[in-house]
Amino acid sequence: MKSDFTYDLVIIGGGISACVFASKYLKNNITKKIALVEIGRGLGGRSSTRISKRFKGWKLNHGAPNFNISNSKNNLLLKSYIDELLENKFIKIDDSDIIFLNQDLNSESQKKSEFSSGFNYFSLDSMSQLSQNIIESNNLKGKIDFYFETLIVDLKFNNNEWLLTSKNGDTFKSKYLICSTNLLLHKRSLKILNINEIPLRKAIPINDDKKIDLILNFLEEQSFIPRLTFLIYTNENYSYKDFYSKQQRYFYLGKNLENKYKFERIIFQMQDNNRLGIVVHTKNIEFINSYINAKNKEVFKQKIITNFNKLFEDNSVVNKLNFDDEISIMKWRASQPSGIAVPLSLQFSRKYRIGFCGDWFEGEGFGRIEGSILSSLILEKKINCLFK
Ligand SMILES: Cc1cc2nc3c(=O)[nH]c(=O)nc-3n(C[C@H](O)[C@H](O)[C@H](O)COP(=O)(O)OP(=O)(O)OC[C@H]3O[C@@H](n4cnc5c(N)ncnc54)[C@H](O)[C@@H]3O)c2cc1C
Repeated sequence: MKSDFTYDLVIIGGGISACVFASKYLKNNITKKIALVEIGRGLGGRSSTRISKRFKGWKLNHGAPNFNISNSKNNLLLKSYIDELLENKFIKIDDSDIIFLNQDLNSESQKKSEFSSGFNYFSLDSMSQLSQNIIESNNLKGKIDFYFETLIVDLKFNNNEWLLTSKNGDTFKSKYLICSTNLLLHKRSLKILNINEIPLRKAIPINDDKKIDLILNFLEEQSFIPRLTFLIYTNENYSYKDFYSKQQRYFYLGKNLENKYKFERIIFQMQDNNRLGIVVHTKNIEFINSYINAKNKEVFKQKIITNFNKLFEDNSVVNKLNFDDEISIMKWRASQPSGIAVPLSLQFSRKYRIGFCGDWFEGEGFGRIEGSILSSLILEKKINCLFK
């Protein structure tokens, strides 16, 4: 049965940017009626955790495993928010080993990746739990209505009100709309949602709002990096060669090694059940296509183990895998935006009462959690001043 819902503000998306925005907004506007609509089964988006029914007790961070804050410009808004997360014990400094493997398979410990510069943090629990903790802080959870497994496919702005329609026909009316994803603004929506016009363009005609036109123009030039992550559920005898007690351990591959083995980064994640999970990331397009086209996915999985074992053949801390270790694969169609970032000055339109946040905005956190958090904090400040 289809339902109609009415709110003061609706947020599309349930990733970390939506959670940061919602928690800050509600803290300052406790009487407002808010809904968060997310196509996934829970919060976290691209920084979430696979909690498998098949592999009980395992929690593998299959998107962002942790996050780094460069904040080289000393943005105080960002700094004080990170301090707040630390004080609340939602995150802690990540002092895990970061090992860069170079061409000769030697290890170096310099920080060379976009994902490790500055200060590194990880969630005290899983990455999905971080988004939940952010929402639950200050007892705000009960103040938001959550609609999971709900995909918004259409937007309309009529009589000063937003009307959102989901794939199954539910409608959401709201005075204000926040898009924490740019799917409904970007041409990739045409294929993904099987529609003829970009939903935001359909809702707001060209030449009606300069900011909206500009944002859509910028997004014409934004593309996305696809990634695969291989989640390896090692068998019970698997461990490191050495004694290592920290929760995670990161191996980054230099360009030549990445070309040879097709892996970008390998993250060892110690589980509560003392089993060692391994998440392997790849963004090598040929490798991704060979997975998509592989008739026999099991043969492909064996290739992953073969490559892993060759890479770590003589490594002093990593043991080889067995061919009976279980692997599941996560396909990220759009793991990170790339190319042109959208200027923060276009983050909201007063005329249409719509705001945007996420990692697709300009700044040193572009394409990372740092950018998602900062854009949400900035948006909330702007909206608090202007949307009252
Ligand atoms: C494999 C991988 C590794 C990464 N590694 C790192 C890292 O090491 N460090 C780092 O900082 N960042 C990393 N990132 C990037 C990081 O995950 C993102 O920058 C961050 O999680 C983005 O958060 P967000 O809230 O802006 O967007 P998202 O997490 O994408 O949230 C948007 C949400 O909107 C939902 N949604 C979209 N369209 C609709 C719709 N029409 N209706 C309903 N719901 C919708 C989506 O399901 C999603 O949950 C990685 C990403 C991936 C995938």
